[in-house]
Amino acid sequence: MWSMPLIVTGTIGIDTIHTPTGSAEAVLGGSATYFAAAASFYTPVRMVAAVGGDFHDGYRTTLSRFPEVCIEGIDVRPDSKTFSWGGRYMENMNVRETLFTELGVLAEAPPATPQRYRDSKYVFLANTHPGVQRELLEGFPNRAIAVADTMNLWIETAKDDLVALMKQIDGLVLNDEEAALLTGRRNPITAGKAILDMGPSFAVIKKGEHGCIMVHREGIAALPAFPTDLVIDPTGAGDSFAGGMMGHVARTHAESHFGGEGVTFDMLQQGLAHGTVVASFTIESFSLDRLAELKKDAIDERYRQFSAAVQI
Ligand code: AMP
Repeated sequence: MWSMPLIVTGTIGIDTIHTPTGSAEAVLGGSATYFAAAASFYTPVRMVAAVGGDFHDGYRTTLSRFPEVCIEGIDVRPDSKTFSWGGRYMENMNVRETLFTELGVLAEAPPATPQRYRDSKYVFLANTHPGVQRELLEGFPNRAIAVADTMNLWIETAKDDLVALMKQIDGLVLNDEEAALLTGRRNPITAGKAILDMGPSFAVIKKGEHGCIMVHREGIAALPAFPTDLVIDPTGAGDSFAGGMMGHVARTHAESHFGGEGVTFDMLQQGLAHGTVVASFTIESFSLDRLAELKKDAIDERYRQFSAAVQI
């Protein structure tokens, strides 16, 4: 399977989270981390990200609980600090505020991509500065698909880079607020179409507990979220969703279309369902705690429940 691997670039973060029911101090997070953990249930994942000297062994031990995640691409900078982020969720867990963002290594040069990762076919540019996302994308000339995530901070502060990035990627994943901010359109379908006009072939617009919509050049797909009332900490739901989606796409494309057709609408549509199911586990605990003890059987079982719940 290593011949057609999935790669993720993005942040490794040290997060401090407050929710209406509890808090977690300096726990492992980051866009690339959640993505890689979730995708690793489907396919091996290579991770490219930078950390500082404060990235201690406890965080490494957590990462090692995902044996399909290759961490050789983690660039350790002993004299710098790991990206860290603080967030607080309101009573309505769909709404969160950022308490602080300490860029640390993110303010420096992008992490170096190991030479042996350059053959990666499936590329996910998890949330980080879009200028860095562009630079990293150049490192994967053999890619079959490149998808990026972004957020309001970068739409507000680095829009030119983001617009340039959008001309080079196949898909963009973002939430409904971010899609509205980027396009000036509140309706997710109209916003999705405006995103396609900017370059990508598809846009996946996430709507938190209300599910997601994919606007694709070949059609539209929509799915609810997994119906659950067990929400301890929504952090990482978006990245895990993308991880499940891309993990499924990488596996099915590699298996059935080796060297042939591109990634199809159907693969992406099914990917939305896998992403939804994996994300529903992420939110059952703080940090990666739930994913770290998760077995693929439990994902498959919940996928069956989800299929039954959305059957029409
Ligand atoms: P999500 O809940 O899926 O949006 O992802 C939350 C994760 O994104 C947290 O673990 C943070 O460490 C990370 N994060 C927060 N802000 C940023 C940012 N501006 N750029 C990249 N990653 C971020």
